[in-house]
Amino acid sequence: MAWTRFGKKKDMPGNLWTKCESCGALLFRKEFEQRHRVCGTCGYHFTLPARERIAITVDPGSFAEMWTGLLAEDVLAFNDRVPYGEKLAQTRQKTGEDDALVAGAAAVKGIPCALGVMNFQFLGGSMGMVVGEKIALLCEHAQAQRLPVVLVACSGGARMHEGAVSLMQMAKTCSALTRLHRAGLPSISVLTHPTTGGVTASFASVCDLLIAEPGALIGFAGPRVIATTIKKELPKGFQRAEFLLEKGQVDRIVPRAQMRDELARLLAYATGRDPVAAFAPQPVAAEPEPVAVPAAPEPPPGGKGRRRARPPKDG
Ligand SMILES: [Zn+2]
Repeated sequence: MAWTRFGKKKDMPGNLWTKCESCGALLFRKEFEQRHRVCGTCGYHFTLPARERIAITVDPGSFAEMWTGLLAEDVLAFNDRVPYGEKLAQTRQKTGEDDALVAGAAAVKGIPCALGVMNFQFLGGSMGMVVGEKIALLCEHAQAQRLPVVLVACSGGARMHEGAVSLMQMAKTCSALTRLHRAGLPSISVLTHPTTGGVTASFASVCDLLIAEPGALIGFAGPRVIATTIKKELPKGFQRAEFLLEKGQVDRIVPRAQMRDELARLLAYATGRDPVAAFAPQPVAAEPEPVAVPAAPEPPPGGKGRRRARPPKDG
């Protein structure tokens, strides 16, 4: 699979069409959104905003968000092009989110769980003090209520604006999950495109079960950095979900359309319920109406080809 971009999508006129980052096919936006941002041509799984992920995963009305008042602080007075404090304020306004993780109590096909979902739209889903604190609180809540934990990762890594404080979250989240594990409670990590840096190197990799979406890039440093450092050509499909399944790093690859059923089955199994009953189809909402897809527009004259992708910069 070709390298994919993390940056802006090149939208077609009128915002009716969008282009697949992987195969280049023109996708009718309404149909593409009904497929929950999966390319109908090649099956490429685009990054899904946290709220959309929650909506297609949990039982309608079951999600009770927690710890919404937690806000990051600019402890280092960090300044690149824009001071970190300002950047946070702008991102909060743009996304309507407090930080890069939405967490709370939920139920999947009637099975209660504690759920945390990362939001790539918030500073590349980077993990700083708020993300770390929310995951720790989520694990403590799960332990008190005897709930399994589901964490959906989508991240460029630790938030470098918070320096060592962001790196500390790696140890903090792993400790919280260890306590959960010792209390005999299960945890499931869902690795989505892209999961990199300090998130891969901490909570996303230490859960009891690791599930990946097809084609997801999962790694620590980006492939280009590794290839340059070791001065060797990397194997085909390096750091992709399928490669990692073959190597034993992830336990299972589950397409987005089946993720809810699969999570219900695993949660049922892990909490002593009937996994067969939990796996029975049960749509999350009314079936979407079929979309009439108009003929794709001609590409604009003199349009440039696809830009080459770049790996994430965050560590
Ligand atoms: Zn495609």
